Amino acid sequence: MQTQWNTFEADSEYIAGTYKRFPVEIVSGKGSIVRDRNGKEYIDMGSGIGVTAFGISDEKWAAAVEEQLHRVQHMSNLYYTEPCARLAAMLCERTGMKKVFFCNSGAEANECAIKAARKWAAEARGADCFTVVTLQNSFHGRTLTTLAATGQDHYHELYRPLTPGFVSVPAGDTEAIARLDDTQGVAAVMIECIQGEGGVIPLQREYVTQLRRMTEARGILLIVDEVQTGNGRTGELYSYMHFGIEPDIVSTAKGLGGGLPLGAAMLGEKVKDVFAPGDHGSTFGGNPVCCAGALSILSRIDAKLLSEVREKGAFLARFFAESGIESSGMGLMMGLKTKKNAADAVKECIDRGVLCLTAKDRVRLLPALNIPQETLERAAVIIRDVCLK
Ligand SMILES: *Cc1c(COP(=O)(O)O)cnc(C)c1O
Repeated sequence: MQTQWNTFEADSEYIAGTYKRFPVEIVSGKGSIVRDRNGKEYIDMGSGIGVTAFGISDEKWAAAVEEQLHRVQHMSNLYYTEPCARLAAMLCERTGMKKVFFCNSGAEANECAIKAARKWAAEARGADCFTVVTLQNSFHGRTLTTLAATGQDHYHELYRPLTPGFVSVPAGDTEAIARLDDTQGVAAVMIECIQGEGGVIPLQREYVTQLRRMTEARGILLIVDEVQTGNGRTGELYSYMHFGIEPDIVSTAKGLGGGLPLGAAMLGEKVKDVFAPGDHGSTFGGNPVCCAGALSILSRIDAKLLSEVREKGAFLARFFAESGIESSGMGLMMGLKTKKNAADAVKECIDRGVLCLTAKDRVRLLPALNIPQETLERAAVIIRDVCLK
């Protein structure tokens, strides 16, 4: 006798146990509304951890993807394809960066950034100048090297030995980095302008500008990890733009592909020619379907959309402040300090039809950039009631 299909049971039997999922099976959605197997609707305030930049099944994105799907879905990097060249050109025009390497995830974008920095520093400053400095409480990915870069010990414990050559220092202390450079040589400093997984914590403006000045003066590269903060999330195209600095390398992923896997490492003037054929590569990197979708996303993250993201972020911050709930972040990347346990708050929000995230001890909100104001307000009321109750 055939037993009835049950996704929960099959998942727990056959999927590696790396995720603690909520008991919700999402089957469809539109924009910022998703629907589960039982037909219950939720307002999506997490957008797949900041991935579905224009919501679920966005029409323009889907049309761009579908059109490319019917032309050619993949070609190796042995040949040219138009969408990835167009996307690289658009990224460079809008950031002032000079060249782009495409990959498939945030961790891979950071791997490329680190490889670029090591190769550049070895050539420019000597073979023993390989240390990459990151900040305590940072998050840079799950591969062994990006774990080593991640400044949170609890991610490391099970997987030692990690890639050597990484040191994490407290945010705010440029002197610690200068001392390291004096003693062992620092190839690069890698930062998130707003630490996402670390609790939605923005760096101080003075620190970021001081760090840029110090690294510039010493010939240390500055890498900005824009995997979570990038692609319009904070109300600028990339979060470093709020700080008036120019990084040497920018990594991004999450929202860039609008829901398909796509990462990018953007190389600035200093490092634009660091890679020669064979130095680095990716089978799927620059996939034309992912890039066609990303072109549709990026071309719509314009001045008008960015100002709407800033306004919606300001609305949320005001709304929560009026209820005595402290928030952090920028634009539509927000952390909420709640009295009750953040994970419990997220569970209650699910019961009441809102999907949120956590980041450390905070409730984290990363809604679609184009979430309608009315939907945002409905979600905000529910989240507030859950947090205050
Ligand atoms: C999510 C994230 C990553 C890792 O991205 P993956 O696509 O999961 O590999 C790296 N850095 C930051 C800042 C992130 O938020």
